[in-house]
Amino acid sequence: MQKIKNYINGELTEPAGKNYLDNINPATGEVYSLIPDSDERDVQLAVDAAKAAFPSWSVMPVAERSDILLKISQLIDKNLDRLALAESIDQGKPVWLAKRVDIPRARDNFHFYATGAIHLSTEAHATENTAINYTLRQPIGIAGCISPWNLPLYLFTWKIAPALAAGCCVVAKPSEITPMTAYLLSELCIEAGLPKGVLNIVHGLGPKAGAAIIQHPEISAISFTGGTKTGEWIAKTAAPMFKKLSLELGGKNPNMVFADCNFEEAVKTSVTGAFSNQGEICLTGSRIFIEKPLYEKFKDAFLKRVSTLTVGDPLDDNSRMGAIVSKQHMEKILSYIELAKQEGGKILCGGNQLHLSGKLSKGYYIEPTAIEGLPYDCRTNQEEIFGPVVTLMPFEKEEEALKYANSTTYGLAGTIWTENLSRAHRMAAQLQSGIIWINCWLFRDLRTPFGGMKNSGVGREGGFEALKFFTEEKNVCIKL
Ligand code: NDP
Repeated sequence: MQKIKNYINGELTEPAGKNYLDNINPATGEVYSLIPDSDERDVQLAVDAAKAAFPSWSVMPVAERSDILLKISQLIDKNLDRLALAESIDQGKPVWLAKRVDIPRARDNFHFYATGAIHLSTEAHATENTAINYTLRQPIGIAGCISPWNLPLYLFTWKIAPALAAGCCVVAKPSEITPMTAYLLSELCIEAGLPKGVLNIVHGLGPKAGAAIIQHPEISAISFTGGTKTGEWIAKTAAPMFKKLSLELGGKNPNMVFADCNFEEAVKTSVTGAFSNQGEICLTGSRIFIEKPLYEKFKDAFLKRVSTLTVGDPLDDNSRMGAIVSKQHMEKILSYIELAKQEGGKILCGGNQLHLSGKLSKGYYIEPTAIEGLPYDCRTNQEEIFGPVVTLMPFEKEEEALKYANSTTYGLAGTIWTENLSRAHRMAAQLQSGIIWINCWLFRDLRTPFGGMKNSGVGREGGFEALKFFTEEKNVCIKL
């Protein structure tokens, strides 16, 4: 059976404790590889390697750093099919989705930050003919990057690429549930000639290997994407050590559909926004609020479209949805469907685990599920489910839609469907979300600030923000 290895000091290594965890293919429910069960000893080795690499990496001319990162981007592209297949087997997502979205985005993350770093400039302030101030921006040191399982390589590289481009050395941990593409990336980094110790990838459990990264006194910045509860623990642990923190956390995103919307587009994109990647996207529009006059028409068209979504083998290009990432997560989603029923919800479609046949018979599948008849403030409508489950709710007025939308503790993303430009701007200004899409969903420009308000996180990724996050600013004042 294939054994994944840590990537420490430029080499693929066994974990110090020689212990491994099972890695399960969610489409079949079978163990198909082994993951290092790393602990604080492995993290220490990674920190030692990063420390040794930092003095030369941090002062390497940015154009040279950029060349190496561009090489990694090119190698991701060259290995696109192989990486997409690995992502699909590891995560359960359709392979066509990994080919179209996940892996190209991982390639683009490296490309974007490799070139972005060249364009990063610093400010200067002339103080009324008496002084000149200029800002020195220097790499912060060793960065800890921890990412979740839903978009494995996509989110892993979204952190690593800006950290490396900024001149930091990195100790990173992908989710133990989906480690494979991070492992394959370590092979590509070796091939690209990334100097040893610049990037170190430690595989293992969050509360063990992950916690050791958070607690390590020599890691000065933490970039984390994952659940709000984990983020809370990280904030509590890292704050007394004055680490710089970027936290991208959960969401319970509203999708607001007004009667004057472009109907076809709103239905089509609302279905995509609800069920892509089995609903396992932090930006999923899981609460759909529909203006009353349109409610029945929208519901019918939405359900008709959902009925065409085939749930099946992630490796089959005809499957619109694949497997849920793990048994434990599948059970969590199913428990929320039960909760919705107890709270008085009416299941409009789906609502069940799906049992496929043959080699998929032990896999984890759930039907795309839509529910109506629930109040906006019940648990089903307040807590993140992170699966293929959405609720439909009518509203009468703009104010009511806003009240519903802003009622959760989250504030990640929101979508507004309307052809009324004034309303779109009005709603965008009042919606408590870090990311707002008007007449679209998950339309991304990597230069824009990405992140959430309220319990959805602290800080913004994307663009120069991410490069700046991994640097320390110094003001230098020269008296004239
Ligand atoms: P978790 O918070 O469980 O895990 C995220 C990462 O943190 C994993 O690598 C995990 O390791 C690790 N981890 C867990 N506990 C600790 C700890 N004590 N110290 C350090 N690291 C730890 O989230 P999920 O993986 O379940 O991801 C789903 C969540 O991520 C959802 O809430 C989703 O909304 C959110 N998310 C947010 C995004 C955003 O941009 N805002 C984007 C994508 C997802 P392991 O898995 O190995 O235990």
